[in-house]
Amino acid sequence: MITILSGGTGTPKLIQGIVQIVDPADINVVVNTVENTYISGNYIAPDIDTVMYTLARIINEDTWYGIKDDTFITHETLKKIGHDEILRIGDKDRAIKIQKTELLGKYSLSEVVDIQRKNLGVKSKIIPMSDEQSYIKIITDEGEMSFHEFLVEKKAEPEVENVIYNDVNPSTDLINTIESSEMIIIGPSNPITSIGPIISIDGVKKALKNVYVVAVSPIIGGKPVSGPAAKFMKALGYEVSSMGVATIYQEFIDKFIIDVEDIESKKKIEKLILEVMTTNTNMKTIDDKLSLARCIFG
Ligand code: GDP
Repeated sequence: MITILSGGTGTPKLIQGIVQIVDPADINVVVNTVENTYISGNYIAPDIDTVMYTLARIINEDTWYGIKDDTFITHETLKKIGHDEILRIGDKDRAIKIQKTELLGKYSLSEVVDIQRKNLGVKSKIIPMSDEQSYIKIITDEGEMSFHEFLVEKKAEPEVENVIYNDVNPSTDLINTIESSEMIIIGPSNPITSIGPIISIDGVKKALKNVYVVAVSPIIGGKPVSGPAAKFMKALGYEVSSMGVATIYQEFIDKFIIDVEDIESKKKIEKLILEVMTTNTNMKTIDDKLSLARCIFG
């Protein structure tokens, strides 16, 4: 049994490679929940749904949220009647969100996600990091805002001064799942806003120290492949580089995979982490994803 820690873009790409070489039934995915919120009356768990749709092979790979070939009739109708929905939610995707919202009246988030992933034929277990309402606040030069407001409404333009998330308890299966895994994979997700909230939960770092952990850097050549990770890392005083990511993860990882483009920093990183490997980590094709997955297990 292996466990993958995930956000909603970089790690799902890697998951597509991992499922080619590991039986999906032997995979758990622990998912960040800080962006979970209500939109248009429905509970939205962006990273959980992205991971679930990736494993169900229905993810929209153009956006890394939503279902491929979805229609937007409800979204367009809402707009026409004067409800300006802040996220473009597809019709099929909305059906999943409506069911999630209804089920949350009776069950915990972990239970709801388990019901939904089984309904979609997903064999891997998907574990929300917490069943409590978590949140993230981005403190910027234009004031405090939600992650969504920062990313979508403000197009990640404000200067970031700090990133804050609330303390939440681990979901029922979180610590036990980490402790009983043969290997933990920290995928190439945002180390501050996706992996950061998971590892800050009480007991997670301690559990990680007792298992074999491999991490993949989301930074290539001093830049994130996509998204605002650079602004967040800088704001918290980390260098925007694989070395900076190594600094964040060093106390609990055993192997760190960096891109060939960063080969000159390998020696420096080896002072922090025992095993450092270089390979192509830019996942554009399924072959890229598969070869990165092989490197993790190699
Ligand atoms: P979010 O939840 O949408 O913010 O997504 P994640 O946190 O899962 O992923 C965002 C991070 O993934 C960014 O920091 C990117 O640099 C990284 N990323 C995206 N695609 C790739 C890729 O192909 N290779 C690597 N190494 N990192 C990637």
